[in-house]
Amino acid sequence: MMRIGHGMDVHQLVEGRPLVLCGLTIPHEKGLLGHSDADVATHALMDALLGAAALGDIGKLFPDTDEEYRGARSLELLGRVMQQLDEAGYRPVNVDVTIVAQRPKLRPHIDEMRRMLAQAMGMLVTCVSVKATTTEHLGFEGAEKGISAQAVCLVESIQSK
Ligand code: MG
Repeated sequence: MMRIGHGMDVHQLVEGRPLVLCGLTIPHEKGLLGHSDADVATHALMDALLGAAALGDIGKLFPDTDEEYRGARSLELLGRVMQQLDEAGYRPVNVDVTIVAQRPKLRPHIDEMRRMLAQAMGMLVTCVSVKATTTEHLGFEGAEKGISAQAVCLVESIQSK
């Protein structure tokens, strides 16, 4: 059986924070604000995976009121989501993440972001897509007030479970 999942997330861009996307720290004068490392792309991906298995969302799994998750590395949380998915009897077939940011230019980092997600999920890099787009200066992403991300994934039942 195949199931589909969708996730989306937004974080505010502020000075004095590192910019972490798909586990990769990207040189930029601003970073994303949040309780964890605020990796907006990985958050959208985790919600897509949880959504596909109807396991809730990351707000339920890793509440931002919990001190355990202060400064948490989202890539490690992604590993925990994979574990939950496995326990529920699903594994991802492919994932596709879109990051919406006016700046910085993400194209030079795309392959490394794919590699980091694939490694964290134990998937082939050919099954992990990361894309980036601007909004032609429109909206909060275009004004560089924040970065948003969307993700979709397909998961399949693990035969033995
Ligand atoms: Mg988030």
